[in-house]
Amino acid sequence: MFDLNKLIRENIKRLTPYSSARDEFSGEAKVFLDANENALGSPLLKWYNRYPDPHQVKVKEAISKVKSVPPEKIFLGNGSDECIDLLFRCFCNPGKDNTVICPPTYGMYEVSANINDVEIRKAPLLDDFQLDLVHLENLVDENTKLIWICSPNNPTANSMDREDIETILNNFDGLVVVDEAYINFSRQKSFIQELNDYPNLVVLQTFSKAWGLAGLRLGMAFASEEIIEILNRVKPPYNINQVTQELALKALEEVGQVNDMIKELVQMRIALKGVFEKIPFVLKVYPSDANFLLVKMHNARKVYEFLLSRGIVVRDRSNVKLCDDCLRITVGTEEENTELIEALMDWYVETKQVKT
Ligand SMILES: *Cc1c(COP(=O)(O)O)cnc(C)c1O
Repeated sequence: MFDLNKLIRENIKRLTPYSSARDEFSGEAKVFLDANENALGSPLLKWYNRYPDPHQVKVKEAISKVKSVPPEKIFLGNGSDECIDLLFRCFCNPGKDNTVICPPTYGMYEVSANINDVEIRKAPLLDDFQLDLVHLENLVDENTKLIWICSPNNPTANSMDREDIETILNNFDGLVVVDEAYINFSRQKSFIQELNDYPNLVVLQTFSKAWGLAGLRLGMAFASEEIIEILNRVKPPYNINQVTQELALKALEEVGQVNDMIKELVQMRIALKGVFEKIPFVLKVYPSDANFLLVKMHNARKVYEFLLSRGIVVRDRSNVKLCDDCLRITVGTEEENTELIEALMDWYVETKQVKT
């Protein structure tokens, strides 16, 4: 049986959260002398002298409308990375509890677990990049608090089978974190509409990819009100800055334009896949539900270095298990993609490698 109360660390249960000036008075007033802000303001940017809304009420209302999830089920972090760290800090006792990840996957789960002194157990993906449920089940014990599922997965670009994720949600008594950083590039359905069915579900999304706002650092966690309340207790009071809140609100007013941009990126990804598949030294372009392609090729490391010499940086994943000889290539602008393809053709001419 899932029992959230048993999952929360004792010190977090007992915690009296920090009460900010904005918490202790949030009504209307003329004169605010309660937060030691600088009333004169910066000579450069006079309108940023006040602390931002610690609860991000307006941004959450706007996200709520776009996502059809009530504001009480939304948590905002300084990037998804803050959400990841907070989940470890709220639910995993350092030196005692453990977490399960399914590599190859996003590196931050492991880094964040290590920072929090949480034991990592690995259930590598199968050869088809799907979840190994048998292995996963064998790793889980009474100290397993979090299972991380990245779907669509970075760096393999595929979505996990929905039934597999549902099986885990139905059978695991800890939290299942489904990281949907790339969901908008996928034709798969998000899990955020399933929150009512699964009290142990946490869905992560971000403004860094589909929204094109990685510089703002804004990540979202969707979960039950009870889980969100715990994350709110532990987060730094002003974790989402004023500029980020203002710009996110603007972006949320332009969902139509964002959706057009997503379509454009997906079209370019499909076109790029077609071109890569015609390049003789490319062995395989994996199916992608994201804004990048995982490409297997002869001498990936050498190709990586050649591209670098042309000023083009891609991600070398050639030493990662299941990704040997693979580069992870983000879809760029039309011009950037063309430059990349030209460089790859030049490499081909220079080395005259042939497909085997
Ligand atoms: C890019 C990415 C994120 C985004 O992290 P932010 O901190 O929100 O920028 C999260 N998860 C995965 C799998 C990613 O690839």
